[in-house]
Amino acid sequence: MEKRRIAILGSTGSIGVQTLEVIREHRDLFEVELLTCNSSFARLAAQAREFDANNVVICDDTRYKELRDALDGTGTKVFGGMKSVCDLVTSDRIDIVVASMVGFSGLAPTLSAIKAGKVIALANKETLVAAGPIVMGLSRKHNAPILPVDSEHSAIFQCLLAAQGNKVRKIHLTASGGPFRTWGKERIAAATKDMALKHPNWSMGAKITIDSATMMNKGFEVIEAKWLFDTPVDKINVIVHPESIIHSMVEFEDGAVIAQMAEPDMREPIQFAIGFPDRLPLGNKKLDLPKIGGLSFQEPDLGKFPALGLAYKAIGRGGNIPCVLNAANETAVAAYLRDEIPFYGISDIAGECMEKAAFIADPTIEDIFETNSRTRDAAEILVRSMRKS
Ligand code: MG
Repeated sequence: MEKRRIAILGSTGSIGVQTLEVIREHRDLFEVELLTCNSSFARLAAQAREFDANNVVICDDTRYKELRDALDGTGTKVFGGMKSVCDLVTSDRIDIVVASMVGFSGLAPTLSAIKAGKVIALANKETLVAAGPIVMGLSRKHNAPILPVDSEHSAIFQCLLAAQGNKVRKIHLTASGGPFRTWGKERIAAATKDMALKHPNWSMGAKITIDSATMMNKGFEVIEAKWLFDTPVDKINVIVHPESIIHSMVEFEDGAVIAQMAEPDMREPIQFAIGFPDRLPLGNKKLDLPKIGGLSFQEPDLGKFPALGLAYKAIGRGGNIPCVLNAANETAVAAYLRDEIPFYGISDIAGECMEKAAFIADPTIEDIFETNSRTRDAAEILVRSMRKS
């Protein structure tokens, strides 16, 4: 494959770091054009030095000077603020953009990259949850393909390569079930953030790890799959698969099911997105099925994990409601991580925000930003009323 010039938005987060691990194994194939982060300036500076990044942006302006000083004497240009991310990501010198910022904040720079016709390696599922139809419409209009980084969607994408134009009967989206899969509801209700942050299989950032514990993450992934693969939600089936070896499956009309398997390691889907259509050799652990011994499957328990049901409800109502769900969830998860609300407070707040939101059937991008900020305000009020003493 020809050398690709890459931008990584959110390079100091879990996906960003693992993307750079893949690139470290293939320095001849990638040139690091742009790295951005929210506030971890020391980590960003170290990455810029190691990978000779041409440009870096720190979104938190108050850290700009520290980053600039840390990169003094290098050839790296240093910028501050979210607007710089949105501007620099459109550069002619960038071929592929890894969208791995956390949450709704990833939407604006991802839209900029799409409008500039970049190949998008999408890890930021909140972008599609909040604004799926707008994002996919712009992707088609500007010829900016969106390649999934999310492991389940990478798996579906890989399975669909076997479709050869044949109709898909069902997508089977697998879920680990998270750390509370075997717990009773009362025990879950009292779970602290330290318990919720212990994911059995995947090493990820704090926000998505809490989303995995509530299973909101799986609900978001149903919405993400609907938009990425243009598939109605009733054809997307969630299956709990605790071993996280099958990353998802596609079923065809003849009953054949194609599954994608690998050890749970995000570097695999990352390499598939940034190297597509090539598969890059990786120093990851390879699958040893006899050693694993068995794979198991269960139905999801919507009684224990109401967030998953909320996501189905949100996409069923459509319009700006999935954006409401996302904004309420982000606000509530942040409060849970500050020990301010109980575990089920997250889904309670999300559900209440969905009930009370002003419905917009066909939102513009301005409506989406407005819905996001209004919902955050509403969710903060609910957090305050629920706050543990
Ligand atoms: Mg996933």
